[in-house]
Amino acid sequence: MDDRNSLFRSVVDDRLLRAARRCRESWHSLQELGGIHNSHAEQRAEHRAADPPVSVAAAPPQAPAQAEAEATAEATAEELRNPDEAYIETARCTTCNECTQMNDKMFAYNENKQAYIADVDAGTYAQLVEAAESCQVSIIHPGKPRDADEPGLEALLERARDFT
Ligand code: SF4
Repeated sequence: MDDRNSLFRSVVDDRLLRAARRCRESWHSLQELGGIHNSHAEQRAEHRAADPPVSVAAAPPQAPAQAEAEATAEATAEELRNPDEAYIETARCTTCNECTQMNDKMFAYNENKQAYIADVDAGTYAQLVEAAESCQVSIIHPGKPRDADEPGLEALLERARDFT
């Protein structure tokens, strides 16, 4: 601090850095829920602007039974998931490119341009944890390390705990 109590320099440690990152991720997540920086919301807005208005009656209604079946299938898949295995909540991906730019062999986009883990062995556990920390909407779950000899596992597991 200078003599006017203005902060002009600070030295932060790893823990503070990670806490700051988590705050940023929570903020991005909140923005995404509000449709900001959400590629799917932006696409819809673009389509809405480009297309002539469609009456509500003409919109194809989604069959309630189908929607219910999809929700049940998703819930079942979630329950059956092995917590030790890495996964992405693909349906919530906002296509921000963070993970795919980090390692495009490990992370890939599906036909809806939403990320999934294409090959968990194509990168390190450190990359999985880093991707989880970088993901704006916190939907990457690193699971447990597959290589027991990877350096720094203890610290990585500690960081991964926020994304179980
Ligand atoms: S970092 Fe998250 S939101 Fe961005 S592309 Fe990957 S999974 Fe999707």
